[in-house]
Amino acid sequence: MSIHKGRHALITGGGTGIGEAIALALAAEGAEVTITGRRMEALEQTCAKADALSGGIHALVMDVSDEASVVNGTAQAIKARGNIDIHVANAGIAETSAFAKTPLDFWRKIMTTNLDGVFLSCREVVPGMLENGWGRIITISSIAGLKGLKYGAAYSASKHGVIGLTRVLSEEYMGKGITANAICPGYVRTPIVERNTELIMKRSNLSHAEAEAAMSSDNRHKKLVEVAEVAEAALWICGDNSGSINGQTIEIAGGQV
Ligand code: NDP
Repeated sequence: MSIHKGRHALITGGGTGIGEAIALALAAEGAEVTITGRRMEALEQTCAKADALSGGIHALVMDVSDEASVVNGTAQAIKARGNIDIHVANAGIAETSAFAKTPLDFWRKIMTTNLDGVFLSCREVVPGMLENGWGRIITISSIAGLKGLKYGAAYSASKHGVIGLTRVLSEEYMGKGITANAICPGYVRTPIVERNTELIMKRSNLSHAEAEAAMSSDNRHKKLVEVAEVAEAALWICGDNSGSINGQTIEIAGGQV
């Protein structure tokens, strides 16, 4: 029997990209998965993919930048399927801006989604994990959480913050059956990267292949990372035999950052 069978997983941003891949992988292992995001249609599309495989995915509209939405949404998921065993704090936005021209509201928008959002969802799931004496928290940071990303002051600062928060969770709940780890991917083939590829095509008059190559060149192995590679790492961290993996930053970027 799968070690994930019957576990309740809450995955923010689970309707697309990395979050979707982790949601489908956990559902295929028999977990009950609640996926959240702002757009119900994206969530429903993921549920339809899961139905074809294994079922077990449930859609919930929840905006991580809105405290009431996170508090109510998490409570709704817990009421329906029990305490959260596995939480993947994945929702995020990636936008760039030259540092000296960055407006405060742009900075705040990125921080509110990428950092406040992770804080809020983790805060809401921890009491249930403590009650159960078992929990796995995975935050999706980035290589931009480990080094400065040019033109990405807000994004990079938010992702550094996510790693700091993850380390605090690992310290605060150590020995209580709960682990917290950050996955730090390089450029992964997802809608965020596709949107950036299109921007580069327009700005620099490049073909799709050339623009994608420009993005991949920032990964050490000069390839885009595939979502399945991130999902495999998440499954491993969630397992019963990963209880000693705690407070780590796991780079998935084709080489050392
Ligand atoms: P996507 O754009 O596919 O995923 C982002 C998800 O977050 C979407 O499902 C989106 O759903 C959700 N989201 C955004 N804002 C909110 C919000 N306010 N409330 C709730 N959900 C929200 O891209 P990725 O899969 O690539 O990104 C997932 C995570 O991985 C992000 O945190 C990103 O920073 C990180 N990452 C991605 C990398 C990459 O190269 N792709 C590299 C390193 C890190 P909706 O719009 O419906 O709300």
